[in-house]
Amino acid sequence: MITAAQAIRTKGDLMAARNTKDFPNFRLKYIQPAPFRSICSKRMSRNVLFSRVFYMPVCLSVFYALLLVFTGCNVSSESEGTLPVVAVTVEPHGNLVERIVGDGVRCVVLVPQGKDPETYQVTPDKITALSKAKLFFRTGIPAEESLLPKLQSIAGDLQCIDLRTDLTLRKLELHHHEGEIRHIHTDALPLQNTDPHIWFAPSLLKTQALTVLNALKKLLPEKAELLQSNYEKLAAEIENLRLELVRQLEPMRGKTVFVFHPAYGYFCDEFGLLQTAIEFEGKTPNPKQIAEVIETVKRLGGKPVIFVQPEFNQSPAQAVAEAVGGTVAIHSPLERDVLKNIQRFADLITQNR
Ligand SMILES: [Zn+2]
Repeated sequence: MITAAQAIRTKGDLMAARNTKDFPNFRLKYIQPAPFRSICSKRMSRNVLFSRVFYMPVCLSVFYALLLVFTGCNVSSESEGTLPVVAVTVEPHGNLVERIVGDGVRCVVLVPQGKDPETYQVTPDKITALSKAKLFFRTGIPAEESLLPKLQSIAGDLQCIDLRTDLTLRKLELHHHEGEIRHIHTDALPLQNTDPHIWFAPSLLKTQALTVLNALKKLLPEKAELLQSNYEKLAAEIENLRLELVRQLEPMRGKTVFVFHPAYGYFCDEFGLLQTAIEFEGKTPNPKQIAEVIETVKRLGGKPVIFVQPEFNQSPAQAVAEAVGGTVAIHSPLERDVLKNIQRFADLITQNR
């Protein structure tokens, strides 16, 4: 097993990164996944240094001025304008921040609802918003990887907090496996090969709520008491949900949940279920791969419900469902009200068993 905490830099690494001119302002505090780390350690040539120091600030100022003119983005109300900005990648993490701090920050969600975080390219207006952010709670999805290099030139006071901190991560399922649970067995597994859908399981969510609390307390020490009491209410609610679902899903133990995209691995692990995905290595499966899934479903028997996220192609799941006499149900793990959404998914699989 690997925990995200194992990927945190040594103090020596951190000092070295702070001293390098590649990162004049960016405060490195938490995990630096491999791609970001290699950027930190690159030595700059004189030309690159010249362009960073003299050329880039001019370009960036012009760029952001144009952005404001053409998009009118982020011209928020006066009160919003004075609030510290906090960024998250997905809506469920926006919900965690909101539950803990209320309206004490302006929370920017990078991936809008209805977009696939795995293929989403962060838009310039979101990057502008991030440049004003004090905290960025990252999840570990690919959209962040393309974003992190951009941050080095715009981030002033931004702290990057990895929500995978202190979690036991599972390996990302790239294609379907019959009745097999895959956890991480090697410490050598890079973080980017781990399952990023960390918000869709109560016990993991509770750890992430604590990570959010600790970071917000540092940002807003004057609100520590309020943050703590909001967190405790939220943590109790998450624990109640977990206990309720243990009871509700007990009769389902060992059963397979069929999904198009493997976003429910942590949920299935937590409640003794198995996840089988139709998607193949992040792509729509070809007819041969669909035929393999149909074989798997037939071997397992029954007429399953196949869950598809609204932002994905429905036809492979429909083809499988038709072949086995099953049905397709729409469910998104990205709904903002994450606790309600986890309960809803549990209800759907219980009703359809
Ligand atoms: Zn996903």
